[in-house]
Amino acid sequence: MREAGNGSYDSQTESEENPLSQNPKVPSEELTIVVGAGLAGLTCAFELAEKGKPVLVLEAAPYVGGRTANWNENGMEVESGFHKFIGYYTLLPELLERAGIKLNDMLFWEKSMEARHPEAEEPGVFGLDLVRAPLKTVLGALGNNSYLTPADKASLIPFFTAGFKDYLSNPEELDEIPVKEYAERHHVTEQALERILEPLSSGIFFLPPEQYSSYAFFGLFAPGIPRLHKMRIGAFSGGMTDVMCRPLADAIERLGGTVRTSAPVRGLIAEEGAVRGVELENGERLRAAQVVVAANIRRAQKLLSEHFSSVSAFKPFFELEAMPHVTAQFELTEPLLPKDRTTFGPGTQLGSFGEQARTTFRDKAGRTSIILVDPDALVDLPEEEVWRRTVDSLKAIGLDGVDNATDYRIIRGDENFYRLAAGNEKKRPKQVTPIPGLFLAGDYTKQPFLATMEGAVISGQRAARGILKA
Ligand SMILES: Cc1cc2nc3c(=O)[nH]c(=O)nc-3n(C[C@H](O)[C@H](O)[C@H](O)COP(=O)(O)OP(=O)(O)OC[C@H]3O[C@@H](n4cnc5c(N)ncnc54)[C@H](O)[C@@H]3O)c2cc1C
Repeated sequence: MREAGNGSYDSQTESEENPLSQNPKVPSEELTIVVGAGLAGLTCAFELAEKGKPVLVLEAAPYVGGRTANWNENGMEVESGFHKFIGYYTLLPELLERAGIKLNDMLFWEKSMEARHPEAEEPGVFGLDLVRAPLKTVLGALGNNSYLTPADKASLIPFFTAGFKDYLSNPEELDEIPVKEYAERHHVTEQALERILEPLSSGIFFLPPEQYSSYAFFGLFAPGIPRLHKMRIGAFSGGMTDVMCRPLADAIERLGGTVRTSAPVRGLIAEEGAVRGVELENGERLRAAQVVVAANIRRAQKLLSEHFSSVSAFKPFFELEAMPHVTAQFELTEPLLPKDRTTFGPGTQLGSFGEQARTTFRDKAGRTSIILVDPDALVDLPEEEVWRRTVDSLKAIGLDGVDNATDYRIIRGDENFYRLAAGNEKKRPKQVTPIPGLFLAGDYTKQPFLATMEGAVISGQRAARGILKA
């Protein structure tokens, strides 16, 4: 894999030079520096580069991608976590197409998903594709009676009807109510809560239903309603850096931008209430017309609070909490599951997971990736303990094949996600800030697609639009 950056900035140490000032064709006062090469930062840089604007992306890690990355972790190829591309995303696929990345080469489309509960006689299997597999999809919704009784299913109808209505008419109020409480108000049965609502909340954004915002719950599915025909799920055909983010960074460089990895930013250069550049950990000082902070939430809060802690417009943002994520990834002598498809493990520590030996990690005989719940309880435990609990949960739902695991890694972080808990929606900051020269991008910033890849893309595009308008 080619390392990022075209080298034109590498000689700039300990200087206040604008790197682009060496190139007389590029007026240095037009430079935009983007801090962070996750999807939000890469999107913003791509949009600017496509418009012919000079742009420099600085990424702390040795690889691009952030939370959509893969890398080698002490001898084992890992990813930031189990990811799925939802068929109703629009801006992410459109961006990738412009960057020359073909969706059908990047993804394997799944036709069904599965939920396994320790006490259910059989797994629930749900079709996903109304257009290509209509019968399976409809039968999945109506069938699966040994997983969920008709009464349980019926109890979900008033809940979903009211929820989507409230999402449109009372979003602020909806955000104040945890999804468990909202389900109780609408008389959802205990079994439907545990077997359907828990996978659709904790299985996706980790938090238990007692905390999970109802706004986040309905907000994830609402954009899919007018696009039901697009409701399918894609598994990546390789590591996300390799098949998506590195090609996107390459497209930025083809358009004249620069992407530097292993370039952590220590602080912002602020002068007279405006942002004028950044200082790197190695002491390099780079000046720019504007800086887009596209770092994860905790890092962004840190960078901003150094200079702008008393700016009242940022107060809610500084109060926005982060939440951890914890994943278990392992290799086996044979696949753990008969199909590579999204699987949920309600009633266990397994949020969502899947076999990947036929999709993302095709050079492995068996390869599984799991998002674990409850991350708050797991994030500080020793690796061996997290692994022991993971094995126990897999066995509880009949997946004894985990005994064939040959290697595992616990991949976790505690500064990446804004907490999708009740009451937090109103604290998300906008991409265009009141500080001259400062823009924000990142899934935590205000946009409707929550903490998703599509949301990160929207945030990057809004930051770019703000810069182009300025
Ligand atoms: C386990 C897991 C499962 C997920 N599943 C899905 C899914 O199925 N579907 C979906 O759509 N989304 C999923 N997501 C969410 C998705 O990955 C994120 O919403 C998206 O990648 C966020 O992109 P971002 O650019 O906002 O942030 P990030 O990807 O976090 O990027 C921030 C970047 O900033 C860099 N950075 C931080 N500080 C500095 C600094 N000081 N200097 C330079 N660089 C810095 C970081 O290294 C990082 O590369 C999942 C995420 C995880 C972790």
